[in-house]
Amino acid sequence: MDDSYDLIIVGGGAAGMGAAQYGARANLKTLVLEEMAHGGQALLIDRLENYPGLLEPVDGYSWAETMRAQAESFGAQIRSASVSSIRKVGGSFAVTTDEGVLNAKAVVLATGAKHRHLGVKGEEEFGGRGVSYCATCDGPFFKGKRMVVVGGGDSACDEAMFLSKLADKVVMVHRKERFRAQKALAERVLSNPKIEVRWNSVVDEIMGTKAVEKVRLRNVVTGDTSEEATAAVFVFVGSIPQTAALPESVARDDAGSVITNERMETNLPGLFAVGDVRATPFRQVVTAVADGAVAAHCASQYIDELEGQAYR
Ligand code: NAP
Repeated sequence: MDDSYDLIIVGGGAAGMGAAQYGARANLKTLVLEEMAHGGQALLIDRLENYPGLLEPVDGYSWAETMRAQAESFGAQIRSASVSSIRKVGGSFAVTTDEGVLNAKAVVLATGAKHRHLGVKGEEEFGGRGVSYCATCDGPFFKGKRMVVVGGGDSACDEAMFLSKLADKVVMVHRKERFRAQKALAERVLSNPKIEVRWNSVVDEIMGTKAVEKVRLRNVVTGDTSEEATAAVFVFVGSIPQTAALPESVARDDAGSVITNERMETNLPGLFAVGDVRATPFRQVVTAVADGAVAAHCASQYIDELEGQAYR
């Protein structure tokens, strides 16, 4: 099996696929490593409606399939493997996978972020029995029932809108008195008759016998507690960037996101970071893809420099 590449992209979501297209099209021998299904978080999007160039919304799965096919049509290779470490050895990178060590002149980290958990009693116990982090995956199991959504960002609002088409009632629980989400999305939620919001509230416990039956809420202003009957609890309280494969010396911010400059370069020359794993003010499919394009372009210039072929 081939083990030497110009560019290895770790992660096959929107950012990784953007980098793959631009890397392959720049004539770099490009490999994408993805441990799960390519497409990343985009796979969970019910209706992708804010990606430029799409007059009609598409589902995230179809969009990801098109991205993969387009990247492959330019010559990118996509392999299923889990990456445990990325290390710089001399002038190149050793990428350790469950299928052996691969080498690359440059690496793009596009590993994204995983769902943050609430960390309350009952959350782990009822995982798969009412507690979920994916509305499109699990929402249909609770059709016609009452559902709780926790969080106040874009994810919580988007997913609450999706669940409102299935649920008898969606109760959103948010710890502040207004949403963090983009205004248009927040307004859509607030005008949806099937969604009620419990402001200034947190979930203290998820309760049930065999499956979720109710949650205990606490108002963070008054301290009052109450119980809310529900068949499911969908948790969307942000995410944790996936950086375990990186050396400690790669700079991160307080949230653990990898710090880059506008060229997507990290503080380790030849290592680029893109998409949700990167410290960025706005996480969208379009910004992830754009990060990937910038990183691949700058990786190509970096490789030219290495090989003494830089355009001057
Ligand atoms: P986010 O923007 O970080 O929002 C997380 C929400 O969870 C916040 O409202 C936060 O409350 C709340 N929260 C955090 N920890 C909590 C806890 N322990 N208990 C209760 N609530 C807690 O995360 P996100 O909504 O997943 O979005 C992530 C990124 O993806 C954002 O950049 C977002 O714009 C993007 N995104 C975009 C779209 C879209 O454009 N349609 C869809 C999904 C995601 P506070 O507000 O009090 O901090």
